[in-house]
Amino acid sequence: MSGLDLVPEGKRGLFIAGDWREAESGERFAVHDPADGSVLARVADAGVTDALEALDAAAAAQADWARTAPRERGEILRRAFELISARADDFAELMSLEMGKTVAEAKGEVTYGNEFFRWFSEEAVRIHGRWMNNPAGTSRLLTIKKPVGPCFFVTPWNFPLAMGTRKIGPAIAAGCTMVVKPAELTPLTMLALADVLSEAGLPAGVLNVVPTSRSADMSKALMADDRLRKVSFTGSTAVGKILVKQSADQLQRMSMELGGNAPFLVFEDADLDAAVEGAMIAKMRNMGEACTAANRFLVHVDVAEEFGARLGERMGALKVGRGQDPGVDVGPLIEEKAVEAVHQLVTDAVHDGARVVAGGSAPDGPGYFYAPTVLLDVHPESEINTQEIFGPVAPITTFTSEEEAVRRANDTEYGLASYVYTRDLARTIRLAETLEYGMVGVNTGLISNPAAPFGGVKASGFGREGGFEGIEEYLDTTYVALPAP
Ligand code: NAD
Repeated sequence: MSGLDLVPEGKRGLFIAGDWREAESGERFAVHDPADGSVLARVADAGVTDALEALDAAAAAQADWARTAPRERGEILRRAFELISARADDFAELMSLEMGKTVAEAKGEVTYGNEFFRWFSEEAVRIHGRWMNNPAGTSRLLTIKKPVGPCFFVTPWNFPLAMGTRKIGPAIAAGCTMVVKPAELTPLTMLALADVLSEAGLPAGVLNVVPTSRSADMSKALMADDRLRKVSFTGSTAVGKILVKQSADQLQRMSMELGGNAPFLVFEDADLDAAVEGAMIAKMRNMGEACTAANRFLVHVDVAEEFGARLGERMGALKVGRGQDPGVDVGPLIEEKAVEAVHQLVTDAVHDGARVVAGGSAPDGPGYFYAPTVLLDVHPESEINTQEIFGPVAPITTFTSEEEAVRRANDTEYGLASYVYTRDLARTIRLAETLEYGMVGVNTGLISNPAAPFGGVKASGFGREGGFEGIEEYLDTTYVALPAP
């Protein structure tokens, strides 16, 4: 068995009410290999009628699923976790093929993404309300947690497995049914996931998967339907805003995991070895195509030159190539447009005075590759500091005081991940309290963890995935007033 075998021809359709079927239109769309642009597979292209049939199935399954014993819901997730673990190599290869990341990185994502199934298999049996005496002693208060109902999930292409399991895991645990629309660029992993969940015993209709090349039409139709009670979206802030506006008429509950512009602060007292190591992880995970990717390196002026030189040496030594080839560290970006956008940001920064320490260009094709790049003396107001780079480029600016570092770190509409390197405990506490971010990594370049509440503030969205908080997104609270006996 190999990666693509996880999604045989008969399972490249829509997964609705427990069955694989073609789109009503009979149309399919192509999925490409970003390492050379070739067609990997063609999958069914769902239209509005198909999506509404998926919602019919989710709505029909909701009541029984909500009544299913929590232990049973948890056991299904646990079985899916075991099945994915057993097929980890195939999942990794499939993801590497459709998304471009190296097989080693893809294995890391399989482990990480699958842990959400294990975590939420354990959370399924820990959903509870509370019982209390009111302050005057005249009544009793009881709260009950109930699943919110049918959900619509929209996921991005950069983490095809983990962005799905972070939503599907808690929804299954909480007793919600769902319609999932994977990214058009990487739908294959989600189809493989649907197959595994079905094999693990998930009842028909609980999970429905509808790949489409017409996302906007689909989201409009589903969100106009009052049976849909919840939307969880991971993707760009621009699309997140459209969905929040679209939710107004039916007042669906929303979770928004949006873009980031993560600052990576290195203070003069930092352990520079650790800071360079952390920078490699925070910058280069997923070729820089991560919402948590370190986007702006703010380094104290006394250590910036050395930090930049050492990071440049490490980045310059990385081997760029096809993600499935042995020895490759950095795969292709997702598409041609991405390479052009990254190169434009680098060119602008250099025009504004930045020095290229490593990389700075795209190797000749085929494939959408970009050389790992380090820039020193970047102007703080260069375009590259104001938007998500989504590529393997580390722009370094300098600061002279903690106050300046914090002010500049917070000077962005985004507020997802941030990183700080310092040995000073009091400063660490000050930074954790003053950085306007949903997540702060202290002397570490890796913050994602299924047991932790992942999410942002400001234009990075709202809601949390993972941790104890992750399941709350899928639960409503009913308060019951009872008389004192
Ligand atoms: P995108 O917003 O272009 O697409 C995300 C998803 O939305 C895709 O499935 C796409 O098909 C769909 N979509 C587009 N328009 C839609 C519409 N009108 N209605 C419904 N669905 C629609 O983002 P992308 O390029 O796929 O992903 C990259 C972005 O995702 C980056 O901004 C990144 O920071 C963000 N991201 C955030 C997190 C997080 O947890 N905060 C995680 C990963 C990625």
